[in-house]
Amino acid sequence: MHHPPVTIHDKQFSIYLPERKILHSVEIVAARLSHDYRGKRPLFLAVLNGSFMFAADLMKEMSTPCEISFIRLASYTDMQSTGSVKEIMGLNEDIKDRHVVVLEDIVDTGHTVAALLPQLRQQGPASLEVATLLIKPESLQHNLVIKYPAMSIANDFVVGYGLDYNGLGRNLRDIYKVM
Ligand code: 5GP
Ligand code: MG
Ligand code: MG
Repeated sequence: MHHPPVTIHDKQFSIYLPERKILHSVEIVAARLSHDYRGKRPLFLAVLNGSFMFAADLMKEMSTPCEISFIRLASYTDMQSTGSVKEIMGLNEDIKDRHVVVLEDIVDTGHTVAALLPQLRQQGPASLEVATLLIKPESLQHNLVIKYPAMSIANDFVVGYGLDYNGLGRNLRDIYKVM
């Protein structure tokens, strides 16, 4: 399939990860999770908005019973990726003694996940791990163990498959990087 560059707002993006490659990597993560969580009825907590497409495709590939719920992070400040306090919104489940797997779209500096995990851990889950569609190892600034990364990428800004650039691009089937 041909993937011409796309323009979003003021920027041009070129094809980076085609849909078949994304779905293949999601299948592999789902197989690992299905194996590791067999009989444990894991609770996936998908972090909105960016992880919605990853969460949907991952769930479809799970071969052991699992649950999903969606959370959102509200920053107290307006700055991005500053490590500012991020409050969890929408967590209605009791996660005590549950096997929790956070689903993220992308781990960049790691500030978001580093702020999220202690808040979840406080609530006494039986286990707590992170699955992310993308990780940028060169950008990571925290000593985090991301046990289930689907794909590692270079330090480029990407859009598509749930990821946006100022609100647009989430609907793209493929992932594009800024030119
Ligand atoms: P972190 O807290 O790990 O630095 O960043 C996580 C958040 O930053 C992601 O959930 C996402 O919203 C945003 N982000 C980081 N890198 C990218 C990128 O390449 N593309 C897009 N669309 N968002 C990104
Ligand atoms: Mg995210
Ligand atoms: Mg965003």
